[in-house]
Amino acid sequence: MRRTLPLAPSRVARRVELPPRPEGFAEDAPPRLTDAAGRAYTYLRLSLTDRCNFACVYCMPSGGEHDHALRPELLSFEEVVRLVRVFAAGGVRRVRFTGGEPLVRKDVVRLVEMIRASTPIEELAMTTNAARLAELARPLRAAGLDVVNVSVDSLDPARFGEITRGGDLGAVLAGVHAALEAGLRVKLNVVALGGVNEDEVGALVDWAWGLGLVPRFIELMPIGEAAHLPSARFLSAAQVQARLGARLAGGAGVADERAGPARYVAAADGSGREVGFITAVSEDFCATCNRVRVTAMGDVRACLADRKAVSLRDLVREGASDADLSWAIHWALATKDAGHRFTDRGASEHTNVGMSLIGG
Ligand code: SAM
Ligand code: SF4
Repeated sequence: MRRTLPLAPSRVARRVELPPRPEGFAEDAPPRLTDAAGRAYTYLRLSLTDRCNFACVYCMPSGGEHDHALRPELLSFEEVVRLVRVFAAGGVRRVRFTGGEPLVRKDVVRLVEMIRASTPIEELAMTTNAARLAELARPLRAAGLDVVNVSVDSLDPARFGEITRGGDLGAVLAGVHAALEAGLRVKLNVVALGGVNEDEVGALVDWAWGLGLVPRFIELMPIGEAAHLPSARFLSAAQVQARLGARLAGGAGVADERAGPARYVAAADGSGREVGFITAVSEDFCATCNRVRVTAMGDVRACLADRKAVSLRDLVREGASDADLSWAIHWALATKDAGHRFTDRGASEHTNVGMSLIGG
């Protein structure tokens, strides 16, 4: 018998049927999470909320008021911990909390403590806009958070306010400093936007280097609000690299598998400093993908660019065993496409689903 899973709202997910768990599957030891292309999954990105205290122009609708999940629709902390344990049993070693803005989730420090106390995860990271990091960096570090990736698209307060629709650059910069002082490893993400912050890419690199950090430029992906922006907003990594000109040694750079899909280009001055480029659109890195996503409402997503989802939350709430959960995750990954379809604008079905809903 095939069962149809209860699903998260259709704006976020596409209905899929989960075949019954094969007899004996994962009853002793769950198999490693792999897919048909032979990719192994060791990295989980889990969204803690679809809400945010910013409303970036490429991420949130104007005003930021999409239909947010209601509290009972979100995974509870206990559910998050249970799922992380199941993923860990399948080989996941690194977990990143994201959103929306993970720091607006109430009691997030307690969740970090719970993950550390009850799961074997080796590295716990968070992607954040840092607006609340000045107050939370120290308790997060004490609770066991290792890494924060902070998004900073401009160092000009007025421009920063425009991109984020009201974000306070001063609070973000204070958050970056607090994270460094608390002993967190800090990475910086920048989305380079044509005609918006492209004249600042050099200043952003100099600022990051001055703090001893590695800035990484992420290509704008045509999902959610970004799909409706003028095409002139898209800047390829090659265009950003060209703008950085003499600062960099040139060449394609080298990948650092542990650090994710970015390739890193060295500074021209031999100082060992670097700039990262994440070419999500211009050259996909799907062949080496090792990441699986869980949305704030508990859908497992094999790919950011595919709305196909299985609701782990509903399975948990129906009383599923760890073996059932492991099967659902395996099945979601086994049916994953070999590559994404970001570039078939219109033809694909991801364009109305923003990063804040899936978990960036
Ligand atoms: N609120 C946190 C933040 O901004 O860092 C975490 C969630 S946010 C969705 C994660 C990352 O996705 C941010 O670095 C953001 O700049 C990036 N992002 C959002 N929408 C994007 C898009 N359409 N293309 C590329 N990056 C995007
Ligand atoms: Fe919020 Fe991050 Fe999306 Fe900006 S990119 S609106 S900070 S979730």
